[in-house]
Amino acid sequence: MIEDDNDDATFLQASLRRQGAQSVDLVRVESMADAIVNLRQNPFDIVLLDLNLPDSTGHDSVHRVQSTDPSVPIIVLSGDENEEFAIEILNRGVQDYLVKWEGDGRTILRSIRYAVERKRGEERLSFLAQYDSLTEIPNRRHFTDQLERATTRARRSNKRIGVLFLDLDRFKAVNDTLGHQSGDELLSMVVERLKTCVRSGDLLARLGGDEFAVMLEDVDGPLSIEAAAKNILTAFEKPFQVGPRQVSTTTSIGITVFPNDTGDPMALLNNADLAMYQAKEDGRNNFKFFEQRMHEEILAYHQIETDLGKALARDEFTLVYQPQIGLADNKIHALEALLRWNHPERGLVLPGEFISVAEESGHIVPMGMWVLERVCKQLKDWERRAMPLLRVAVNVAPASLDQPDFHRNVEAIIGRYGVDPQLIDLELTEGTLMRNSDAIQETLRYLKMIGVRISVDDFGTGHSCLNYLRQFPIDVLKIDRSFVMDLGRNEHGTAICGLVLSIARSLSLEVVAEGVENETQLAFLAKHNCDYVQGQHFSMPVKPEELPDLYRIRGTTNDRGHLSESEVVKALSI
Ligand code: C2E
Ligand code: MG
Ligand code: MG
Repeated sequence: MIEDDNDDATFLQASLRRQGAQSVDLVRVESMADAIVNLRQNPFDIVLLDLNLPDSTGHDSVHRVQSTDPSVPIIVLSGDENEEFAIEILNRGVQDYLVKWEGDGRTILRSIRYAVERKRGEERLSFLAQYDSLTEIPNRRHFTDQLERATTRARRSNKRIGVLFLDLDRFKAVNDTLGHQSGDELLSMVVERLKTCVRSGDLLARLGGDEFAVMLEDVDGPLSIEAAAKNILTAFEKPFQVGPRQVSTTTSIGITVFPNDTGDPMALLNNADLAMYQAKEDGRNNFKFFEQRMHEEILAYHQIETDLGKALARDEFTLVYQPQIGLADNKIHALEALLRWNHPERGLVLPGEFISVAEESGHIVPMGMWVLERVCKQLKDWERRAMPLLRVAVNVAPASLDQPDFHRNVEAIIGRYGVDPQLIDLELTEGTLMRNSDAIQETLRYLKMIGVRISVDDFGTGHSCLNYLRQFPIDVLKIDRSFVMDLGRNEHGTAICGLVLSIARSLSLEVVAEGVENETQLAFLAKHNCDYVQGQHFSMPVKPEELPDLYRIRGTTNDRGHLSESEVVKALSI
């Protein structure tokens, strides 16, 4: 009881005693200063608080009790009944309100009991609202609340705050293969380990899923933050014992510093998140400090995404074609269709800038269909104009291949234009094929059956096991440009290109080398029996109207072993 008035105190004590509340162990103090000393020393079940004390009054009294012991329930004692004030005080987290001299000991006791219970309920609720139920560490809300407070403190004291955003690497795989329960177990163990990495003043929180955050207050600068990040990475080096299994997992960490990167506390987590993505892109299991550039990149990315959404409808895409030259006869055997985007404001945009955005946003699927359709239309047009009908390679994105009706759609489009399926070559990247699912296998078999050719694009970049080469019905390997570029420059290029060519030979696959730019590369490829080359040395991709000139200069062959309809017509008319 914090009550300076002796009469009031005595009356209350007497009422309680009359009720037989011997078990109530009442400690009375007469000032807020004494109250605070007592509250700090002992845990009390409840505080009966008079608001008009010699050294504290009104809301201030409530606040001082609450900040000394946030978990103690409070009943305010007041001299008069003032409804408005009562409601207001209850809104400030006080559990009850008693008018002095009113009510007997029983009412007071009941009020005490209710107040204690209500406080407990409130605490439980706020715990649930502020803590993660699985790991019992603070959740995102608690973290952002604390972060906001910490930034106010840091601003006042001119200190810095480090914010670390952690995301476990490939946690989804653990969840998918071992099940959710093991996933949860792993998360709990991760938290135990993370706890050993943070100092007592640091705040560790689970933001959701496999994402965690750490707030480091009072840091001197990036070096000590870096040290903390390194600590965390080290903590993940030993595998975790999940049930009977040892599971290894790593984490990627994005770091931002307040107030260096931003003065806005809410933007801090976002920045750290962006930096975390960068850490993932840089190969995971590492950390990355936020840079303003990342923010600009994200903005540009969103702009591209928005614009891509309209590009098809506005007919902003076109195709260019790059010839593939046969090394045996030096003639053009085939073409690769490559997308170009005529952006209304930015002009010509190359695939390097928009394909990955299109893949992430899903726009790539309709775009891919558009490409195939445009190629078929083009082939029909060439046929009508009696141009050489060469096979055209079309790039297929992973997401397209994942469409359950992809093969049917391809068949339908080819059929609609009446194009010979052997004129279509679908380029799939190595990454797509490495997923090696039954569904992909079936799709490819179907496509093969209708006569379409299948190539593996960017071959060699997937550091794969090469099993899929045997499993899938593949016709062609395309050596990635980066390896061709290394030819004659270093051992690596020579080794890889040589290896691909010998693998291809052993599996009876054809090989196309991409990005051939000079004689050295060409000489090596020719010497090792590469079938086709594609690259600047012969021609960069060109607009369809430039093809006739190229054809005239180099000559063309089609490898299909029989003449197309138009060629027959042409032959007969001579
Ligand atoms: P890719 O399929 O590996 O295509 C080869 C890329 O290398 C093309 O770039 C081509 O212009 C470029 N290239 C060819 N020879 C040389 C050379 O000698 N030197 C240099 N420096 N570059 C050369 P592009 O057209 O910018 O396309 C880049 C990538 O974008 C393609 O790589 C492909 O993965 C993707 N892409 C292009 N069009 C499509 C499409 O219609 N659908 C899908 N899904 N992806 C596409
Ligand atoms: Mg390609
Ligand atoms: Mg390629």
